[in-house]
Amino acid sequence: MNYLSTRGAGAGERHTFSEILLGGLAKDGGLYLPADYPRVTPDELTRWRTLPYADLAFEILSKFCDDIPADDLRALTRKTYTAATYCNVRDDESAAQITPLKTLGVEDGAPLSLLELSNGPTLAFKDMAMQLIGNLFEYALAKHGETLNILGATSGDTGSAAEYAMRGKKGIRVFMLSPHNKMSAFQTAQMYSLQDPNIFNLAVQGVFDDAQDIVKAVSNDHAFKAKYKIGTVNSINWARVVAQVVYYFKGYFAATKSNAERVSFTVPSGNFGNVCAGHIARMMGLPIEKLVVATNENDVLDEFFRTGIYRVRKAAETYHTSSPSMDISKASNFERFVYDLLGRDPARVLQLFRDVEEKGGFDLAASGDFARVREFGFVSGSSSHDTRVDTIRDVFQRYDTMIDTHTADGVKVAREHLQPGIPMIVLETAQPIKFGETIREALLREPERPAAFSGLESLPQRFEVVPADAQRVKDFIVANTGE
Ligand SMILES: *Cc1c(COP(=O)(O)O)cnc(C)c1O
Repeated sequence: MNYLSTRGAGAGERHTFSEILLGGLAKDGGLYLPADYPRVTPDELTRWRTLPYADLAFEILSKFCDDIPADDLRALTRKTYTAATYCNVRDDESAAQITPLKTLGVEDGAPLSLLELSNGPTLAFKDMAMQLIGNLFEYALAKHGETLNILGATSGDTGSAAEYAMRGKKGIRVFMLSPHNKMSAFQTAQMYSLQDPNIFNLAVQGVFDDAQDIVKAVSNDHAFKAKYKIGTVNSINWARVVAQVVYYFKGYFAATKSNAERVSFTVPSGNFGNVCAGHIARMMGLPIEKLVVATNENDVLDEFFRTGIYRVRKAAETYHTSSPSMDISKASNFERFVYDLLGRDPARVLQLFRDVEEKGGFDLAASGDFARVREFGFVSGSSSHDTRVDTIRDVFQRYDTMIDTHTADGVKVAREHLQPGIPMIVLETAQPIKFGETIREALLREPERPAAFSGLESLPQRFEVVPADAQRVKDFIVANTGE
């Protein structure tokens, strides 16, 4: 399997899965994609229908990755996707499904269900891919006798998923910056209570953007970056995207009885990583009718799918909402879809994303390409705090099911795109306990707390407070890498 950049530089160069595994952007600033999407045959679909999650993951990853020996890859997926890792919410036999499908009911003739992606260690869907990344990184580094220091900034979900994926991994350290005293008590405790010697929490005296700026400053110091082997695990990482393809297949099998049936998915979206995996599943031949992109008030993506205009937002136009993991000003994985939409024309992708940098966006409304958005199955919608709260209340009253704010955005928008007879699967991206304030507002009661997390906030915490100063963060890294 050969990988190329969406912006076309180095055309003719070959990159394997393992080569791009530890990297981020391609050299020309584009994103990596496979030269062709592998197709699934009807026979494969039939055979995969009954596979356990880990073996399904192996089959799908094998199609994208031909430079890890099959036995090793299978061992990695079996080590990752265990009931023990994905049983943090319920410990009944459904945990063995890894991503169980929860049926809500039939609305407008369409069976409506939730695909549970947030039963992993940090109670958000990012655990689905990140746990595999932890094992893949450890494997790849050991093979080449290398080490990696992951540097990141987080306001919640991504950082904790990365830490829980990398804790105790040989050859890997994590330096995670978070804004001091700005996260919820639950999210802070999730991260800071980790005592693993390879995990370092740095509480930056400032806001999230200060933490993000420090990561950029350190990464732009190329000599430092090379000497201290600094890397990242952000949402553009190709392996993260491909790991997410697996649960679209799993959800399809759970909602259907034969491969003649079609289903739709609704995806609470921010950086377009999750729904990009759905697009890839569809390109592989999974019978997906619609991919519904659900945004919150930060509706950059909804605007594009309604109008053909992609207009990134300025910091002052980016809202802090009650579904904060979807608060984005631009969608970092969107370029992958645009590349396919434009018939895989790297010169045009390069021009459009130059326009994003220079003019803040681009307009495809008048071009024939935008009409093709529907051929790719995409539709969209957005939500607000009020619709989010109403949806949490409605789903609780009607179905006795408590959903978090991001999943609520998904259910709200899914309801605008139901078709009789076509199952609608909403991806459940987090547990309500992570966003308790809005649950209390909607339901006048406490969010459900999975038993494994009782007393989390009173565990001892290990973190280092640092000023918003890149040099101080570098000094900390130097002092703690022993190199
Ligand atoms: C990260 C996240 C999202 C957005 O996912 P993208 O891949 O960025 O589109 C949605 N919900 C939750 C809870 C998340 O943590």
